[in-house]
Amino acid sequence: MDWEILNIENNFRSGIDIPKESEFSYHIVVSDNEVLSIAGVHPWRPLDQDEWRWLGLDAESEHFLGDVDGVPIYACQVDPDADHPEGYEFETLYSFLGQVEEPVFNLIGRAKQVIDWYRNHQYCGVCGDRTTVSGNDRSMTCDKCHQIFYPRLSPSIIVLVTRGEELLLARNSRARGNFYSTLAGFVEPGESIEAAVHREVFEEVGVTITNLKYFGSQSWPFPNSLMLGFHAEYESGEFQLQEEEIADARWFHYEDLPHHPAMVSIAGRLINDYITRLGSSDGTQQ
Ligand SMILES: [Zn+2]
Repeated sequence: MDWEILNIENNFRSGIDIPKESEFSYHIVVSDNEVLSIAGVHPWRPLDQDEWRWLGLDAESEHFLGDVDGVPIYACQVDPDADHPEGYEFETLYSFLGQVEEPVFNLIGRAKQVIDWYRNHQYCGVCGDRTTVSGNDRSMTCDKCHQIFYPRLSPSIIVLVTRGEELLLARNSRARGNFYSTLAGFVEPGESIEAAVHREVFEEVGVTITNLKYFGSQSWPFPNSLMLGFHAEYESGEFQLQEEEIADARWFHYEDLPHHPAMVSIAGRLINDYITRLGSSDGTQQ
């Protein structure tokens, strides 16, 4: 079996039922925030069943994620204090961003998040009793009060606000260097995604927006976000920055942008999409 011929993007099927007759399998090995790579193998691939067996690391937990064309893929959690096996190296999840194709990155992110979910729900948050993995879906159930715990995703919005040929980009208070990005924030309980976009923009920079358009989404497993990207047009107001979040916000002409996110992130794609459309419509938005 050759990893390269598997079509992860189109043929990965998530599930909890392990295919019965499978000679091959792949194993994504996760240790805390790091993922195991085979030294010298590029692009990255998971370990196959023999490599995983001969590695000799004990799995603290093992989770079937799904299959590609009948080949099972597992997430294996190993002890971060175990000796690093020769010929292998652990790399941070973040370092895989842009280094592997997006469907593969999403699969690695899935492995990491499933392991996080399992580690974080060993005990019931309601009554404190032990939980066990449910047999019928990806959930854990409290043995005593039967509370169910699913993997947690945190939806967040990310928005590129524009005004003609200008893009609103902001420098986060925690960001190092001269790096400007789109505005972003978590969706609050009881809020629609659209309301979250309006609220975040107003809270962070004090302006109102209009003509909100959904652009696309991106799994962002740091640790469990789902980014929902939007374009929006400036409507009214002067900048009033939320100081604890935003160190600086400005309008930048599209031909004179500061250091900004790369295309591996949805922020980068939003910016690129807008510039492309400006270019193709000779300065006027479609
Ligand atoms: Zn309970």
